Amino acid sequence: MYGGPPVVVVGCGPVGQTTALLLARWGVPALVLEAAPRRLPAGSRSICQQRDVLDVWDSVGVGRRIAEEGVTWRVARTFLREHELFHVEFADSGSSPFPPWVNIAQSRVEQLLDEQIDRTPAVEVRWGTTVTGIDDHGAGVTVQTDAGPVETPYVVGCAGAHGRVVRDAVGGGFEGRSFEDRFLICDVRCDLPDRQLERRFHFDPVWNPGRQVLIHPCPDSVFRIDWQVPPDVDLDAERRSGALEERVRQVVGDRPFEVAWCTVYRFHSRLAPRMALGRVLLAGDAAHLVAPFGARGLNSGVADAENAAWRIAFALHGWAAPSVVATYDDERRAAARENLEITTRTMDFLVPQTDQGWAHRRDVLERAVTDPAARTEIDSGRLYAPHRYGADPHPAVGALLPDLAVEGRRLRELARRGLLLLSRGPVVAPPLDVPCTAVTVPGGAADELGLRADEVWVVRPDAHVAAVVGRGGVTGAVRGLLG
Ligand SMILES: Cc1cc2nc3c(=O)[nH]c(=O)nc-3n(C[C@H](O)[C@H](O)[C@H](O)COP(=O)(O)OP(=O)(O)OC[C@H]3O[C@@H](n4cnc5c(N)ncnc54)[C@H](O)[C@@H]3O)c2cc1C
Repeated sequence: MYGGPPVVVVGCGPVGQTTALLLARWGVPALVLEAAPRRLPAGSRSICQQRDVLDVWDSVGVGRRIAEEGVTWRVARTFLREHELFHVEFADSGSSPFPPWVNIAQSRVEQLLDEQIDRTPAVEVRWGTTVTGIDDHGAGVTVQTDAGPVETPYVVGCAGAHGRVVRDAVGGGFEGRSFEDRFLICDVRCDLPDRQLERRFHFDPVWNPGRQVLIHPCPDSVFRIDWQVPPDVDLDAERRSGALEERVRQVVGDRPFEVAWCTVYRFHSRLAPRMALGRVLLAGDAAHLVAPFGARGLNSGVADAENAAWRIAFALHGWAAPSVVATYDDERRAAARENLEITTRTMDFLVPQTDQGWAHRRDVLERAVTDPAARTEIDSGRLYAPHRYGADPHPAVGALLPDLAVEGRRLRELARRGLLLLSRGPVVAPPLDVPCTAVTVPGGAADELGLRADEVWVVRPDAHVAAVVGRGGVTGAVRGLLG
């Protein structure tokens, strides 16, 4: 077991918090260096957390609380002016303890993660400590801070969009574009019982012609309203003149309301050219920025955290070769590229950059009123789903394991203890120094998984399927995974 100095996590945003808790769960101490003097009120920001992300948070003891406090929504409705074009209902959760989505303010998620960190002796947070430089000297890393240097075996840079210091440590750069258009978001407290459990997307409503408005329910009768607005919008002027109040009125009607938070922001589509170099890894907004339609920002940052944490822990415990850490770059950059492609397509539909694009948007939306086929061309954001790693022809390989239980034990929970081998008959764990559980999956569950009689599924510590092999191929597959 590892007994050396803590892994340094730069930044105590939700991705840094999650990384630190996951490292601690794997028995590796974490030191979080955070420039802010304490948790600062920063508005609610991210609100939509996906089921598989709640599952990752469950593995560090906060997922269920987040799910309980969040608003569960299962219906997404899309409107053009006064017409409802279509609605999508999300499938039941099957054997997952979590709903498909919950809405909860990022600020509350951070608070719950902070409380969990307080209960976790293996995580230390040093507030008011700014990282000023990172020097990977091969045998370890020296992290320069305004309070002196810190030695560590690995750094996970979760310093957010402005985290240049961590990006520079992996070669620098943050390529991509920033969109001109502005979005005005408000959290409005108001009693709207009929809208409590659904997301509504309005194209060209009479109260925001030529643009769109997105409305999400949040806990405590708060609604997140997101207006696309002209680039020259002036929030302070709107507040003073009463225009902001009028905007909200148009959405909520005559009911009393209170604006709990409001901001104007621009979207960015950016990706660092590398997400890992040597002993430094990037995670979350420090590595990638996407438009929030589809809720791919924080959700994908949590997936980065999980991928980084198990790789670093396995290398430090000696369960895997150090090269296992390098694979992070390929995998999480592929995931980030997918998110960028999807959100860029969405932005091209929502906010076209050419006259031709606007004509297409108008044409699709008008046809969609009467033509169901046109509705499939509407892109109001493809919601986050975990990335499938690699391109193996076997459909299970690279994908997150379906959320099934066998004899009352959730397979994903077993996977998150080390390695998991799944087969229809007995299988012998490989003679390697690594925690490994072998599970015989009975017929019904095996059919549901798609696990065939001649197959053994090797499942990684982040519950993604690493390989599907015959009985004789298990040791080779595990060696391939762990370097
Ligand atoms: C309006 C809005 C709506 C959004 N909606 C969604 C949504 O619905 N779903 C979703 O998944 N995502 C959403 N996002 C994105 C989400 O908010 C971000 O993806 C998330 O905050 C990223 O977390 P992070 O931990 O990577 O970075 P951050 O939250 O930015 O945290 C970075 C931390 O690093 C610290 N830091 C920076 N530099 C240093 C340094 N040199 N030394 C020490 N500390 C440092 C900072 O002080 C900060 O605390 C939204 C974002 C916005 C703005």
